[in-house]
Amino acid sequence: MTFETLGLAPALLRALADNGYTTPTPIQADAIPLVLAGQDVLGGAQTGTGKTAAFGLPLLQKLAEGKPAGNGPRKPRALILVPTRELAVQVGDSLKAYGRHLRLNVTTIFGGAGMQPQIDAFRRGVDILVACPGRLLDHLERGSAKLDAVELLVLDEADRMLDMGFLPAIKRVLNRVPANRQTLLFSATFESQIKALALEFMRNPVQVQV
Ligand code: AMP
Repeated sequence: MTFETLGLAPALLRALADNGYTTPTPIQADAIPLVLAGQDVLGGAQTGTGKTAAFGLPLLQKLAEGKPAGNGPRKPRALILVPTRELAVQVGDSLKAYGRHLRLNVTTIFGGAGMQPQIDAFRRGVDILVACPGRLLDHLERGSAKLDAVELLVLDEADRMLDMGFLPAIKRVLNRVPANRQTLLFSATFESQIKALALEFMRNPVQVQV
């Protein structure tokens, strides 16, 4: 199994070679073709399994193949919700590394950092937004972030987000993204609240487990 046989584009294959990745991990081998095919995916995976690239690589490819709509500053076409600022930074850095040969902006927002630089980033244009739910809600309420162009939504470490009490914030965010989107949910565990979230907000998800 190689990244090429999974259907990834040359610009991503080059970035993977730059990173020294030679072989897809099991979650990457399972998830990448499904995400490229447009499926909603429920991924059962812990940190350390390569789940960031499992959703990040096909997400970058889909955005690179498409085009931003309309005029004015580019609005996020992909939204990745994460529980903590540490994970936000890590996921943002990984996406920048995997997308280094593509022209896609990756912006990371979380609480405890100044609002103004984040507002300025939205004004400049964002293609991929990595966000903690609370701070994203602040931006939605102020009108500085717009989610009406989101094509791909990822809930990363969904179980941790629920443990941290983010369910109400997640639901408010989910109600602001277009219904006609692709949704990916990654979680180490699948207790009933996660299943209920998947049932409510995903369309015929395919489950992959490592
Ligand atoms: P993650 O589970 O996404 O946090 O990734 C865990 C670590 O594995 C990160 O340091 C990645 O850079 C690395 N990694 C992910 N996929 C691969 C791969 N296919 N080959 C080598 N390293 C990888």
